[in-house]
Amino acid sequence: MGRVGQMTGSSRATPEPRCAFGTYPTAVEHLSSLSTDHADLWVKRDDRTSPEYGGNKVRKLERILAEALVRGARRVVTVGAVGSHHVLATTLYGRRVGLEVEAVLVPQPCSPHVIEVLRAGLAAGLRAIPVTSWAAVPLAVASRLRRGTVFVPVGGSSVRGSMGYVDAARELAAQVRAGELPEPDECVVALGSGGTAAGLAAGFAVEGLATRVVGVCVAAPAWLVRASAARLAARCARAVRWSATERSLAASELRLVVDERFLGAGYGFATSDGESSSRAAAAVGMVLDPTYTAKAFAAALWHVRARRGPRVLYWHTLSSAPMAPLLEGAPEVPRDLPRGLARCLL
Ligand SMILES: *Cc1c(COP(=O)(O)O)cnc(C)c1O
Repeated sequence: MGRVGQMTGSSRATPEPRCAFGTYPTAVEHLSSLSTDHADLWVKRDDRTSPEYGGNKVRKLERILAEALVRGARRVVTVGAVGSHHVLATTLYGRRVGLEVEAVLVPQPCSPHVIEVLRAGLAAGLRAIPVTSWAAVPLAVASRLRRGTVFVPVGGSSVRGSMGYVDAARELAAQVRAGELPEPDECVVALGSGGTAAGLAAGFAVEGLATRVVGVCVAAPAWLVRASAARLAARCARAVRWSATERSLAASELRLVVDERFLGAGYGFATSDGESSSRAAAAVGMVLDPTYTAKAFAAALWHVRARRGPRVLYWHTLSSAPMAPLLEGAPEVPRDLPRGLARCLL
């Protein structure tokens, strides 16, 4: 199939071109064994956005990579921690539409999951550019920007990428209208670069849902994460218009809060709350990662127990597609890693 053949025009929130990577709508499920007499817990299964590699980066990349193709790009350059889901997803879907993918990689605490994601990216053709700290990123990115190259920001959290989550919120609103779940009081989701939570907050507001987005902060410093998520939500709100009135949303109409209580020692560090929420999730057949979803699910369980909102929706953002096919022929770690990346193993 040609490159353009993979794109479809969207008749929903964003008229921009979109690559068709995912399968929608993703299901919503009631977690009865984790609900209480006073509070119901639901889950939005964005772990299943694609059977190849799901999670929350798929909806963002459908828009980001379509735009890169329209601009005539041959290559994308992005940024992430070693073992970043965003870098793996960009590699898989970028390669699928014929783009070269380079990523500047920053060290992070290592776990078996981090190693697996890194190896899958290298197997898929990722060109890794290791640096030793976030401070070194701008120069490393600048040195890779050349003709035919489009830069994709960390986490895919440009306004364009975040519009994928405006549409996801509209998808959820349609499921509420269809009676698949009641209107949630709270939507709890991991918040890293912020595009997912920001897009959801803008999309819920457009749809007239009163649902409050609780972004569970997984990176430090929390004040910066909070400020950039709020700014991104406001930019999404300006970009999206009500079809009926053609007016943009005011920032005051957005319901987005950032909860930093589950962060622990920082980005990529496991927490004991996260370990117990992972056990609770495993009991209902969901696998979590220590960096994002273990912390977000711990927050969701807290909101259920605290009876803050009787109807809590946990938005699941981690791919549940099997990793084994992605690891076929993958280089071993650390022997075949590019020099410098092994730092994350120390
Ligand atoms: C990237 C990621 C997030 C964070 O999404 P942002 O839009 O960057 O806030 C959450 N969960 C998982 C599993 C991710 O990979």
